[in-house]
Amino acid sequence: MYNIGIDLGGTNIAMGLVDDALHLVYQVSEPTNLPKSPERLADDIHALVVRMLADRGLTEADVGCAGIGIPGTVNQAEGTVEYANNFGFDNVPFVRLLQERFACRLLAANDAGAAAWGEYLAGCGQGVNSMVAMTLGTGVGGGIILNGRLWGGCNAAAGEMGHMVLHTGGRPCTCGRKGCLEAYASATALVQRAAEAVADAPESLLARAPIDGRAVFAAAKAGDATAARVLDEFLTDLAEGVTNIINILQPELLCIGGGLSGAGAQLLAPLRKKVAPMIYSRYSRRNTRLELASLGNAAGIIGAAGLDRQEGM
Ligand SMILES: [Zn+2]
Repeated sequence: MYNIGIDLGGTNIAMGLVDDALHLVYQVSEPTNLPKSPERLADDIHALVVRMLADRGLTEADVGCAGIGIPGTVNQAEGTVEYANNFGFDNVPFVRLLQERFACRLLAANDAGAAAWGEYLAGCGQGVNSMVAMTLGTGVGGGIILNGRLWGGCNAAAGEMGHMVLHTGGRPCTCGRKGCLEAYASATALVQRAAEAVADAPESLLARAPIDGRAVFAAAKAGDATAARVLDEFLTDLAEGVTNIINILQPELLCIGGGLSGAGAQLLAPLRKKVAPMIYSRYSRRNTRLELASLGNAAGIIGAAGLDRQEGM
């Protein structure tokens, strides 16, 4: 028996078939093509599911359960998406609309929560009781798992760790506040910081090509002083945010995923070095492990497919 996991993004709809051992055995994706009405989006998602099953010679009768991660505030009990800025959803019964199209049961969660749940079930979080999964991409998102359950808070909006303010009155953030972690430590912010630095350092390697996150890491590795400084300042802000999360929750594990985690040890090693002396519990015998997420883009699909493994689901 397979479960279906769907990772709904503003750019792409990715989905896959996940077996009982939580292996992603088949995956498809197509552009989301926004703007689109909720009904049309639900139709398109279901059509892609039917096509994916047909690719493998399966039908909905071969599916145990489906799960979807949605970039917004998901009210599973009511079957609504209370807010999703990319989709223009404001209290839309989107989960109900989708469920009406599926023969099997459909569960929904926030996309970052689903990705965290995937890492917990099948990735770097296997065997832990509590963890925080942080994603560094266009924004800074995250999911929290406490006592083996995805923590949504009273309204399924928990985990917005990108919107803790690090610098009062600082860089404007998409959420309307100023100085949020996301405005300093997302991939978008890294590129912005690099672009600003290059304006005063035309000799930098970064001035030779369009800048993306990977270019900043590569230039720093090649000995470029401007890139090294930008990266160090970026990591200092990220470390402050990571330390705040550790101090509040003391999870067994905090993992870093998203596009920038592709930098691997070049991100993780200096981050660990900066965080270790700052955490309040630095004298404790046991502290939060800081690791890279291990499932990459598959985390969201596997986590969504495994939403039925939550207690009470
Ligand atoms: Zn913010």
